Amino acid sequence: MTEHLVTHQANGEPLMWRGRFAPSPSGRLHFGSLVAALASYLEARSRNGEWLLRIEDLDPPREQPGAADDILTTLEHFHLHWDGSVLYQSQRHQRYEEVLQQLAAQQQIYACDCTRKRIKEAGGLYPGLCRSRHLALDSANTSIRLKIDKPMTSFKDRIQGEVSVSAPIAAEDFIIRRKDGLFAYQLAVVVDDIDSQINHVVRGADLLDSTPRQLQLYHLLDANQPDYFHVPLASNVDGSKFSKQNFATAIDPEQASSQLTNALIFLNHPPPTELHNASCEQLLTWAQTNWNHQNVTASYSQTVDSSGKRLPNKQ
Ligand code: GLU
Repeated sequence: MTEHLVTHQANGEPLMWRGRFAPSPSGRLHFGSLVAALASYLEARSRNGEWLLRIEDLDPPREQPGAADDILTTLEHFHLHWDGSVLYQSQRHQRYEEVLQQLAAQQQIYACDCTRKRIKEAGGLYPGLCRSRHLALDSANTSIRLKIDKPMTSFKDRIQGEVSVSAPIAAEDFIIRRKDGLFAYQLAVVVDDIDSQINHVVRGADLLDSTPRQLQLYHLLDANQPDYFHVPLASNVDGSKFSKQNFATAIDPEQASSQLTNALIFLNHPPPTELHNASCEQLLTWAQTNWNHQNVTASYSQTVDSSGKRLPNKQ
């Protein structure tokens, strides 16, 4: 069991506020990732907390050479400086394996050899077909799934309020190790956040559906769950989400202060006119003092133009 050392104040707030930014190196940072990085930075720094950086390089086939270093350089360019050394998930396999063994001992996992086709035929979400087959956990070409006994269909988010997720998604026995032997994001993110004693998670709203799954793992690993803050996703005028695969929207360090301003406007913290041509450092100092997550709009996405300028959302 992982010992959770963070202690709390009388009002329930943690003594030390520790957050993180956890990008996957599948491409360069884009405006949406800048928003997530900035919000998590400000949430931690405005409370004199720590802000850690973790590179989620868990899935080599999806990585782009050079992307991890590029992300670090870009963050530094924006003056988003992190504490301590960067944690790389690629160096944590042994720890994930240990946790997998712990869950095996708790009889919370099982092996599954179902093909995608089979799951599709069964309706798309996995209906527990291998739950009682007792396949060996180390048999070849099988994934490992977590047994969900009590689905969690809602949780409290500090920005989005009470969030409900679809019951079938919440009830699915999801994969924690893939057939190709790679550990799944859901497992790694929770193990790392527990081990790093992260007590608040600020990230994009595309991960709302993953949160109840991650909460299941916190529960099974007997760890304190973090507070969640899901910020709206930046979406293009055509409704598509900004993504690392779309190079047109990669942020440009040459335009750092105007993009940082756009990111602050996106988060409903427009800097005052005196800061019109301010440096990133000055903008961040102002934002740290003025940050209040309650000003961030509780919505799934927000439309922006290609430079990140906020546009009215389509009704
Ligand atoms: N690595 C994930 C991403 O880049 C974020 C994970 C998280 O913040 O929990 O989308």
